[in-house]
Amino acid sequence: MKLENKIAIITGAGSGIGKQQALLFAKEGANVIAVDMSLENLENVVSEILAADGLGEAKQLDVTNQLEVKALIGYVIEKYGRIDILANTAGVFDGFVKSLDTSIELWDRLMNVNVRAVFLLCNAALPHMLEQKSGSIVNMASIGSYAAGAGGVSYTSSKHAVMGLTKQLTMDYASSGIRVNAVAPGLIETPLNKDFFQTPDSGVIEIIEAIPAKRAGQAIEVAKASLFLASDDASYIFGAAINIDGGVTATLI
Ligand code: NAD
Repeated sequence: MKLENKIAIITGAGSGIGKQQALLFAKEGANVIAVDMSLENLENVVSEILAADGLGEAKQLDVTNQLEVKALIGYVIEKYGRIDILANTAGVFDGFVKSLDTSIELWDRLMNVNVRAVFLLCNAALPHMLEQKSGSIVNMASIGSYAAGAGGVSYTSSKHAVMGLTKQLTMDYASSGIRVNAVAPGLIETPLNKDFFQTPDSGVIEIIEAIPAKRAGQAIEVAKASLFLASDDASYIFGAAINIDGGVTATLI
């Protein structure tokens, strides 16, 4: 097993990609602290983990709330004594809204969940990882971290910021044994974009046609790349991003 005895915090674990990460990391031996706002979804995920003889527990909180984040990290350290893996996966989408139609509330929400929460969680976990002289952080970027078009202005800006944060943390803490990397998915079929897949005139058919692999990805395909980055198999991978996008970035960059 690739994550035996590792203590792993995964945010957004109630749904989509975070759920698949939680199930896969637990299958690989990690003790998973599954974090989300939705308690019902979290309880289902943890039940699945326990039913498969894995280790996991649910923590319902809002990742944008500094006090709740600090309390989570304090709880994990008190109970387990360490944090080996932090997967910052919770995120929200803006529905491709252009700048002039983006309210300040929408902008703030995207920045808070997609960027501020990653900063808060990293800053709360890092002191413990530094003390341990080890730790692996896997941030959720996107093809929207490289180029326009994967979302609207707030989504694209937020995902560019996640990539910048990933690189800067690498520069600042790699020498202390902390690996900070990102996964950058393209179009993945999850509850986040179910309207997009279910609305015939949403443009989904044209978008899939433009993907070299001619299909959307599945959450488990992102989870598998996350597992690699989180594990010791990626021991010399620092500040990198793995694109999981059916070849889309190959057509962009
Ligand atoms: P999803 O909606 O299925 O899951 C996101 C989860 O995050 C939900 O369970 C939600 O409750 C949780 N969450 C949102 N705000 C939260 C908060 N403030 N506190 C705690 N939990 C919160 O979405 P998904 O498609 O699995 O997306 C996961 C991540 O992957 C996001 O960061 C998203 O931007 C990124 N991503 C998704 C795609 C895609 O095509 N689905 C592509 C690229 C990147």
